[in-house]
Amino acid sequence: MSALEEARRLLSDITPLKTDCGRVCRGRCCRSLEGEETGMLLFPGEEDFYEDAEGWRILPAGRELLLICPGECDREARPLSCRIFPLMPLMGDAGGVTVRTDERARAVCPLVKQGKRGMDPAFVQAVLQAGELLMEEPAQRAFLQRRAEEQEELKALRKALTGS
Ligand code: SF4
Ligand code: SF4
Repeated sequence: MSALEEARRLLSDITPLKTDCGRVCRGRCCRSLEGEETGMLLFPGEEDFYEDAEGWRILPAGRELLLICPGECDREARPLSCRIFPLMPLMGDAGGVTVRTDERARAVCPLVKQGKRGMDPAFVQAVLQAGELLMEEPAQRAFLQRRAEEQEELKALRKALTGS
């Protein structure tokens, strides 16, 4: 099993809360803004899961691929970006993997306010484990490195706009 398959498997049943967090916010992270489509980045190789899947489309997005979803999905079809949301595994300063709040979640997800402390520890642990596995594969590691750079840019933008 590849690191990607194993990461998807680790997060196949575990969600940020023990209950359905979509009930808290009526699935805000799945809702598109008017006139836009919901899309999320695919991890390297993840496109294979969606090539012939009805209702899903894959678009190029710079160096990455963007998956456009039907707006609702079964858990087994959910891409890894959605399975780990609102967290993100990143390379820590000391070389290990660390799990942070995804900067993009700040405007969307009500769980961000309490942070990891308010989430199911099993979920946080599964994101960490998935990150550790992915970091061992060069393509996945490079993808996560690009996400880390993106997170830093978003953080700097937030600080410039809000001062916090
Ligand atoms: S926005 Fe946050 S609380 Fe709402 S469904 Fe998505 S992850 Fe759960
Ligand atoms: S793939 Fe599923 S979980 Fe992800 S945004 Fe679309 S409907 Fe929501």
